[in-house]
Amino acid sequence: MFRRLFSQQSTLLRKTVHSKTLAAFPKALAPTVLQITMSKCSEIPALQQANAFSTTSALERNFPVSKIENYDSSTYKTLAFYKFHPLTKPELEALKEKLLADFGELGIVGRIYISTEGINAQIACPEECLPKLQVYHDEYLKPMFDGDLMDLNIGTEHGKRSFRALHVRIRKQLIADGLDPSTYDLTNVPSHLSPAEWHEKLTTYEEKHGKKPILIDMRNHYESKIGFFDGAICPDADTYKDSITAMNDICDNLPRDQEIFMYCTGGIRCTKAGAILQSASGFDTVHLVEGGITSYGRWIEEQKDKESLFRGKNFTFDARMGEKITDELLGKCQLCGEPCNRYQNCSHASCNILMLCCPSCSSQFLNTCARLQCYDTVHEFMDSTKEHYHPAGPVLVDGVRAFTKQGEKNMDATSNRVVIGKKGVSCDHEHTRRTRAIEVLGEPGEVLKEWAKAGRDLPPKHMNDINAQ
Ligand SMILES: [Zn+2]
Ligand SMILES: [Zn+2]
Repeated sequence: MFRRLFSQQSTLLRKTVHSKTLAAFPKALAPTVLQITMSKCSEIPALQQANAFSTTSALERNFPVSKIENYDSSTYKTLAFYKFHPLTKPELEALKEKLLADFGELGIVGRIYISTEGINAQIACPEECLPKLQVYHDEYLKPMFDGDLMDLNIGTEHGKRSFRALHVRIRKQLIADGLDPSTYDLTNVPSHLSPAEWHEKLTTYEEKHGKKPILIDMRNHYESKIGFFDGAICPDADTYKDSITAMNDICDNLPRDQEIFMYCTGGIRCTKAGAILQSASGFDTVHLVEGGITSYGRWIEEQKDKESLFRGKNFTFDARMGEKITDELLGKCQLCGEPCNRYQNCSHASCNILMLCCPSCSSQFLNTCARLQCYDTVHEFMDSTKEHYHPAGPVLVDGVRAFTKQGEKNMDATSNRVVIGKKGVSCDHEHTRRTRAIEVLGEPGEVLKEWAKAGRDLPPKHMNDINAQ
């Protein structure tokens, strides 16, 4: 017998923050903007009650620390900021606690990485709290980063919350480059061009220099598959380490006074890569677009007389999985082969393959990769246990982990997907790198032959979804 019991109570599991944490920031403007709150004792009996059930239980690892219940989920804005700046280990611990408490209070969700290298934040903030976040950023965070923390880089497409919860993680490096950090100098900062300067320089380069600019996409292959700057070299990279290797190969034989242009989503990857190219390889000038594709996209949207040099969609690492810059669909649906720029992960959690999949195929195959083992598992589980899904987080039903994952651009009820996997089971593909859809599913359309071979009819198409496209 199952019951739905797992809602906001789990917020009580949130760590309380003691005032001594703040002492680690002597100069900090101790919460002028925010008040840190403690759990209310009156709510505890409800939590104990929830724990009394064993067949269906909430998974604690996803308990929210953010007070999202106080805010309207449809008003969230997605944004990012970062800074390379040395932090000590004690500073990191204190900063983690402080960000969890203060951002949690503002209902902010997202992923924040901090390391002795600095900070990298990708978050979503309720619109009504943006002014408070701006003050917090300017008056508290910026001084900690010597006054030049990147400004809040607000995305171009917004919908409901683009992250499920708030995570602050301490990492060895902000982005893993595979190099010995003593071989390069992060203070050798590359040239940061405004989107207008970037556009102007790239547009006039050939005319001025008689050759095309060296323009490198510093992102992974699946990101550049759905969008890129015209004329860019897009390395077939699985990781940032691969991008760095490709960058070094591309630049190896070039004269050191050759200008290099590079870009990534928000700028952090190029800030590091550019510093490496300038300090370790001796290049005079590496240009990047300040705020990356995100800020270029925001700028070009306002230009009535200019055509975008970026084509397609800017892949993002949140539930939206991208922001449209132009209407071009540069990828292909892995199932039907039609033009498509929509990514999904197979909803069978032990598969989880990242693939391009059009809305029609996604709905027809229940957000799976359409392999029989994935479709059948998800279909069967959805049929028998649908009533147990809870938007507040994962539940366990007889040892099977299931949750509705808010997905897609607008994060409305119809775009939620159900993710299913046995407890403790992780992706069944190779873990040393991200397995590509094409290796598991073959060329677009090939996976559907499995169905014919097994003598199975394809699942019915959902007319509503087709009409909605
Ligand atoms: Zn399709
Ligand atoms: Zn699958």
